[in-house]
Amino acid sequence: MNICKKCQTEFNGDFCSNCGFPFKLKPINGKYIFDETRSVFNLEKGILFTVKNLFIRPGPTVREFINEDRTKLVKPILFLILCTLVFTLAQQFLDFKSEFTNFQGDSIFKKIFDWLSKNYGYSNIIMAVPIAIWTKIFFRKQDYNYYQIFTILSYYIGVSVLIQTIFGIVNGITHLKVVQIGFIIGSIYVAWAIGQFFERPKRWNYLKGFLSYFLGAITFVFLVISIGHIAMKIS
Ligand SMILES: [Zn+2]
Repeated sequence: MNICKKCQTEFNGDFCSNCGFPFKLKPINGKYIFDETRSVFNLEKGILFTVKNLFIRPGPTVREFINEDRTKLVKPILFLILCTLVFTLAQQFLDFKSEFTNFQGDSIFKKIFDWLSKNYGYSNIIMAVPIAIWTKIFFRKQDYNYYQIFTILSYYIGVSVLIQTIFGIVNGITHLKVVQIGFIIGSIYVAWAIGQFFERPKRWNYLKGFLSYFLGAITFVFLVISIGHIAMKIS
C-alpha cells in the first residue's frame, strides 16, 4: 500500500484513488525541461487562440467553453489578469492615462480613482461583479447562474482591456488623445459580445448587453463614490 502525500489516503498503484495525486514525483531531467518549455509555448498558443476567437465570434467561443470543452481557451480569470497585465505594462512604458485618472474634485475621491487607475487590473475584476449582476437580471430567463455569467464577462472584459491597450499604445506614441475612444469601443465590444452569447432574440440581446455593461459601470462608480463618502465621514 502507498500513502498519498497530499491527503494521506492509502492506495495501490501510481496515483491516489482519492485525489489523483501521483505517488512518485516526476524526476527533473531533460524531458521535464522540454515538457515545461512546451507547456509555456502551449499557453502562448492558447492565448493567441483565445484572443483571436474572442474577437471574431465571442458568443459561440465562450458558449463552447461553458457547455462543451474547457481545454481550448485560457482559463477566464487568468485571461482577465493577463490582459490587465499587458495594459499595465504598456501604460508604464508609454505613460498614457486610463479612464479614471481624469477625475477631479475632493481629495478622497481623487485618491480612490487614482488607486483604481493604478490598479486597473483589480478595478476590472471588481467592475465585473456589478456588470454580472445586471447581466443576470437582464437575462434571468436564460439558464445561466451568476458565476457562469461572471466567467463569461471575464473573457469579454479582458478583450475590452486589450482594445483599450491598443488605443493607449497609439495614444502613447502619437500623443493623439484616443484613450477615451478605446474605452468606448471596448464597451461596445462587451455589449456586442454579451448580446451574441445569449443568441435569441438578437436585437434585444444587444440592447440588454449594452444596458448590463452601462448600468454595471454606473453601479461600480456609484459604489466607489459611496465608499468615498463613508471614508470621509469616518476620517
Ligand atoms: Zn490523495
